[in-house]
Amino acid sequence: MPEIDPNDHDISELGPKIQEVEDLDELEAMLEAEKAGQDRVGAKKLIESRIEKFAEDEDEADGDLDPSEMSPADLGNELPKIDDVDALEDLLEREESGEDRDSVTRLIRNRIDSVQGSDEDTGETVVQSPEEKYPELDHPTADKQYVEDLEGGSYEDMWVFCETQDGDLLDVSREMLGKARELMDDYNEQYGSEERVVAVLLGDGIDDLTDDAIAYGADVVVYQEDAELERFRHKSYTELFTRIARAGGELDEETEAGDSSWRDYDEPRYVLFPATNNGRDLSAQVQGELDSGLASDCSGLYIENTVISNPAKTGGEGDRQFERVLHMKRPDFSGFEYSTILCLDNPTREFHPQGASVIPGSFDAPDFDPEREGEVYEYDVDLDEDWFRVDVTEHDRLDDGVDLTGHNVIVALGRGIGDDPTEGMELGLDLVDAFEDADLGISRGIVTSSYDFDGHVEQYASEERQIGETGQVVAPKLYIAAGISGAIQHKVGMDESETIVSVNTDPGADIREFSDFFVEGDLFDVLPALTDALESGELDVAELQARGASDD
Ligand code: FAD
Repeated sequence: MPEIDPNDHDISELGPKIQEVEDLDELEAMLEAEKAGQDRVGAKKLIESRIEKFAEDEDEADGDLDPSEMSPADLGNELPKIDDVDALEDLLEREESGEDRDSVTRLIRNRIDSVQGSDEDTGETVVQSPEEKYPELDHPTADKQYVEDLEGGSYEDMWVFCETQDGDLLDVSREMLGKARELMDDYNEQYGSEERVVAVLLGDGIDDLTDDAIAYGADVVVYQEDAELERFRHKSYTELFTRIARAGGELDEETEAGDSSWRDYDEPRYVLFPATNNGRDLSAQVQGELDSGLASDCSGLYIENTVISNPAKTGGEGDRQFERVLHMKRPDFSGFEYSTILCLDNPTREFHPQGASVIPGSFDAPDFDPEREGEVYEYDVDLDEDWFRVDVTEHDRLDDGVDLTGHNVIVALGRGIGDDPTEGMELGLDLVDAFEDADLGISRGIVTSSYDFDGHVEQYASEERQIGETGQVVAPKLYIAAGISGAIQHKVGMDESETIVSVNTDPGADIREFSDFFVEGDLFDVLPALTDALESGELDVAELQARGASDD
């Protein structure tokens, strides 16, 4: 009789019990007992599938692997399952008489040594590093021991990378400074501390901007100025930012970044970057260099304590409260769902700074306050020639293309034109023509669609007319959004418009929330009605309603 008689258990109990059985004979005996007893199809299936799994594992462990069909990495994953030296030697022979790859034969020999060693061993577990375990694989992060140094590190302040252009702070830099100020004011009140907002400026001719950064909310500005830094360059900006971030605390001597007497912590607690082309590039690399994580393209931030039960984070010791956690909200699924990303320490590894890149337009820029006071520190990190290995011999400003700003009216079209894209585009253009000063914008949905437009309207579907986070930001007197759902990335490009009218067949479309007027209806009916009304000077609401539209 098996130790566990399946007949004593409901099927729902049996599943978990079977998963604990690791003895094939016991499983066979259970199957026989079930057949002789209740003979339930479900119970037999459960036991049989567990038996099958064992049989598979045994096949593999018997050296049934065909090395000629496996990559070294796959084989590396399978070998630890094989404990039989004969099977391993057989595998080695097959590899040697076949492809005879150095990396594979080394792997198998290592495994043979390790099995033979463990036969003789004293029972002590030898923990191998990934590099020792898989010497044939690349270990690109093997030299990243920095985090180990920072176990129990000290972290303070919120740093903001302030991107500049043409001698001015970008709007998003001001917006981030304002948000950082608000977050750190609340933080200091909540935790009774005095942590600061630190603006980081890199570039040429930026020393004039240090006061601006303070006026927008920074307590401290650190900057490095050099003609070589005139234009954003991936390598030099990354190196500079990370060196300055690491300077201070115990690591100051190693990094030789300059005067960091203003701080006595190892790394920033939080850091914000703009989600611009340059900021996205910089943020990913900097956070990688600092062995931390990044929540990209965020549009909401708050700081709070949080309780986590995930064993990877708690070390399996039940619920654990993490303090001062930056909650980073980012739009997912084309902007219709939000995820909140947390960057939490593991029991054996710290992840700081907690970092986010911020979608331009997500936060209001604060008022400029020339009376605010702050401290300014200049850094003078040696610029390594190696950081400038790529010579920029020439550069040109791209043609400005279509400028949608400054018009009284923008008619914007989205994927709602999908049933007949050419006609949809024509109807939008007709409406544009009916105004004195209007132009046509589009959502990214159109730019990335593969609509087959007729030649005469195709030019209006290009990226240069895109409105939103990665397009143009407009604020006309009147914004008519037809067939646009209202994703956050679109919203940030138009929600400063004085009056927003949206036309959509879906009464639950997100855009309704930030529209002044919502017309529920088909744009193929509503747009011509609006054009007619403008041309005739009268809006026939009854006619519009007869076409299926209802207003809000
Ligand atoms: P959809 O989301 O498909 O919406 C179509 C809408 O039309 C729906 O609400 C539907 O109900 C309505 N509709 C359908 N048929 C009709 C009809 N006959 N009449 C009336 N209404 C109808 N998007 C931007 O716009 N600008 C950006 O700058 C931008 N940048 C982005 C950056 C990133 C990093 C990412 C990830 C995304 C970005 N996006 C941007 C994409 C954005 O998330 C959305 O996917 C996009 O805005 C959706 O376009 P849409 O509203 O035209 O299409």
